[in-house]
Amino acid sequence: MIVILKPKTPEARIEHLIGWLKSQGVGTHVSNGDIHTVIGLIGDTSRIDLDLLESLDIVEAAKRVSDSYKICNRKFHPEDTVIRVGDAAIGGGSFALIAGPCSVETEEQIVGVAKAVKAAGATMLRGGAFKPRTSPDSFQGLGAEGIRLLSLAKKETGLPIVTELMDISELPLFDDVDVIQIGARNMQNFELLKEMGKLHKPVLLKRGMANTLKELLMSAEYICAEGNEQVILCERGIRTFETATRNTLDLSCIPALHDMSHLPVVIDPSHATGVAAMVKPMACAATAAGTDGLMIEVHNDPAHALCDGPQSLTPEQFADVAAKCLKIREVMAE
Ligand code: PEP
Ligand code: MN
Repeated sequence: MIVILKPKTPEARIEHLIGWLKSQGVGTHVSNGDIHTVIGLIGDTSRIDLDLLESLDIVEAAKRVSDSYKICNRKFHPEDTVIRVGDAAIGGGSFALIAGPCSVETEEQIVGVAKAVKAAGATMLRGGAFKPRTSPDSFQGLGAEGIRLLSLAKKETGLPIVTELMDISELPLFDDVDVIQIGARNMQNFELLKEMGKLHKPVLLKRGMANTLKELLMSAEYICAEGNEQVILCERGIRTFETATRNTLDLSCIPALHDMSHLPVVIDPSHATGVAAMVKPMACAATAAGTDGLMIEVHNDPAHALCDGPQSLTPEQFADVAAKCLKIREVMAE
């Protein structure tokens, strides 16, 4: 259930109403917009009398919300969530360009790529240290050493870092990490999601390869419900019968998620297509469709990358994509 308050309702009256709602056994989530304050009710609201609420002089409207995700629901929080990461921001009109290699390999590689993508307009650096590889025989990432090298690249460039956490036992290594990525394969690792909810840092949650948008939002809800509402949703392609691309990029998720939720949306055209030449057209399309950010794999030497070389752009190619997407944003804003 949501309760939309009239503009300029005094704080004391809001507090009083919240106190009463809590006494009725429901949780509350307050969203302060420019004009309206919206109180979202969480839990069993069957005892709450809708007509009684609507009759209060401070209430503009009260509605039942049957969706299974509440805190990340647009109805609970009508305005876009803006997530700040260092000097960068994402959501509510702020665009994030997240770029870097699939995996951190060497100091020279990660620092070199970080400098190059920053010069091209990237606002955050990505790089995997703990890698979820389909085959146990593939390169598994540098682990703790990879995080150390990411920190070095951050120090050199000032770019905030985004890297994947696969197991909660690794968390103590992530102090200097700005955004924790939960990968597609862990989208429904509910215990891990609950742990992410206890943190005070943004989480980039990737859509599982066989999950619906509703399921993605319910996973985001696991994080929000523990108190961390800094969740970035990431579409990275879903598995379909098509084999010409690594996955199928669901671009319609952008308007759909913007309608369903207030959380920012990032598109990852690299994992979605698996083909470097397809990254630019899909990044451009996603930008035109209103994505809040892009996550793109960039490698100094894609042919010799230890992971995902075929989908990695060179820094020069990334600079071209970034410039085009920034131009597209200008056109779309007209
Ligand atoms: C990644 O971004 O490094 C990654 C492994 O992506 P996904 O979880 O989308 O496969
Ligand atoms: Mn990759």
